[in-house]
Amino acid sequence: MKSKRKKKLTIAMIRRQYDQYNRSFFRNSLPKAVTFLVVKRRDCLAETSEFVDAKTKAHLHFQIEFSRELWNLQSRRVAYTILLHEMVHLAAGLHNNHNKVFEANRKTFD
Ligand SMILES: [Zn+2]
Repeated sequence: MKSKRKKKLTIAMIRRQYDQYNRSFFRNSLPKAVTFLVVKRRDCLAETSEFVDAKTKAHLHFQIEFSRELWNLQSRRVAYTILLHEMVHLAAGLHNNHNKVFEANRKTFD
């Protein structure tokens, strides 16, 4: 008998989905150097940030953090929806946080 239990959500799955969304929705324009991790936090479900060199301020990489609460849901559908939202942040530019530019980018997914 085949097990009905779903595969556990992993960072590798998130990375694969990121690459797929990047190809399908962003013409591969989003950065490839993105780190994904799960953190204990209560203020939001996920957050995207940019890491820069402390001295030169040169761009190093982006990081998308998922909250432990979101991760514990173990729902691929929810996690991928949140992932796409964070990718819109990358597409809009992180300085355009939930503003008009962000909304214009987000609306293409409604
Ligand atoms: Zn957001």
